[in-house]
Amino acid sequence: MRMESRPDKNTRLIAVSNRLPVRVVQTDEGVAVRPGAGGLVTALAPVLRDRGGLWIGWSGTTFDPEHETLLRKASKRIGYGLVPVPLDSQDIDDYYYGFSNEIIWPLFHDLQSRCRFKPRYWYRYLDVNKKFAMCIREQASGGDYIWVHDYHLMHVAFFMRSLGLTQPTGFFLHIPFPPVDIFMKLPWRRRVLEALLQYDLIGFQTMRDKRNFLNSLGTLLPGIRIHRRGAVSDVKYDGRSVRVGAFPISIDYKAFARDSASKEVAEAAWYLHEALPNRQVILGVDRLDYTKGIPERLYSFADALERFPELRMRVSFVQVVVPSRSEVPEYQELKREIERIVGEINGRFTQSGWVPIHYLYRSLDRTQLLAYYRLAEIALITPLKDGMNLVCKEYCACNLEGKGVLILSEFAGAAAQLHRGALMVNPYDVEGVSETIFTAFSMTSQERARRMKILRRAVRRKDIFWWVNTFLKAAFARNLDAFPREMAEEYVPTN
Ligand code: UDP
Repeated sequence: MRMESRPDKNTRLIAVSNRLPVRVVQTDEGVAVRPGAGGLVTALAPVLRDRGGLWIGWSGTTFDPEHETLLRKASKRIGYGLVPVPLDSQDIDDYYYGFSNEIIWPLFHDLQSRCRFKPRYWYRYLDVNKKFAMCIREQASGGDYIWVHDYHLMHVAFFMRSLGLTQPTGFFLHIPFPPVDIFMKLPWRRRVLEALLQYDLIGFQTMRDKRNFLNSLGTLLPGIRIHRRGAVSDVKYDGRSVRVGAFPISIDYKAFARDSASKEVAEAAWYLHEALPNRQVILGVDRLDYTKGIPERLYSFADALERFPELRMRVSFVQVVVPSRSEVPEYQELKREIERIVGEINGRFTQSGWVPIHYLYRSLDRTQLLAYYRLAEIALITPLKDGMNLVCKEYCACNLEGKGVLILSEFAGAAAQLHRGALMVNPYDVEGVSETIFTAFSMTSQERARRMKILRRAVRRKDIFWWVNTFLKAAFARNLDAFPREMAEEYVPTN
């Protein structure tokens, strides 16, 4: 049977996410609208422009009617609508910092001991999801497709249905979905699953996340029927038919490859490497977050310096930490811990003319970031758990000379696509990571080039535009049998 690959020309797309793709900020000249960064905006903006679509989300500050006027003007400039959902400071405390970031974020990253299951957070999460649904009701018309993003908004379709909205609605979870024994800890587990089944398509980053979700459905919802097949399965529950798929998100490969070849980036890379002569640069780039495994990584690096003295004076570890959630005490504590470990290791190993760890606590501009990607001989990407991890894909796209080695955590979503070219590690295994650093350091240029070719091809083939198209194809395909099974890549550890 023919597969209808796209929503038809008249289907307007409404993207819904916690944050709008722009930020409302206070400047010296007053309030202003600034573009947001990130792959999702890059990928969805052309689709939204094409179809005259809308983006619904929180503006990033407490609501003020003046913002609406500013956003309306910005909408005209960027070519699609921006609709703010009004949130007050209690919403932000209990729905955003509370339910989303103190419950779902740690639980879905398998870190249940960090969860604070406060009932107040749950009730406010429901209120805010209802606000989003009401905003969709004001904006949407019959022929629209609604695409909701991420863990803050798992109940939006549930409230849309209770408000009588029937538009086809998809959901993509950008973070992992945990194994059933961990998901079971959530006091509202069944209600979350039933709410998710009000979407018509539910997308995950990997086959592992999808399988974890299907196992939770099978365990907690008796009577559910799951038809497992390749990348997209079909689930029947309570008279509804829901699609569940794995769609690994990616980057704008061409833009990264093109920009990293620019004169500015080449010059910046040259200056940075001049300051670190005769040594290989090992690079880590992470948002400040306990899921990223930064302390564990630093201890592995110290172990490598201890056990492989040939590395001393011959490698410099540049660790970039991008400030994030800096109002939250747990994140402030993590920052202090990282700084203490960096100080300890540098204090122990520094020799005249060589400091082992260069620690940058700030956001880099694009030229600087790309310069680090281009110059680093080794990327050390070892999250304890990560939905996808885009940094490793960006590193490969920018590795024009094919001289870089990617060391990648088995628990990053990207492992499923990149394990053939990367050196895979368990981030909890200090000695294993340390030995892998030494293996990467010693790797011949031919082997590096061979592996990087595999990595770059994998990222190029399935870029961010592929991701948008594939999700929308799964949403609109009449017959899932026509849907390619080939997408179902998975990482299976070999030892
Ligand atoms: N990044 C950034 N500024 C920096 C360093 C990195 O904006 O100084 C970007 C990086 O290019 C990447 C994103 O932050 O696109 C991090 O995405 P990832 O999926 O690796 O992790 P997340 O922060 O979403 O957990």
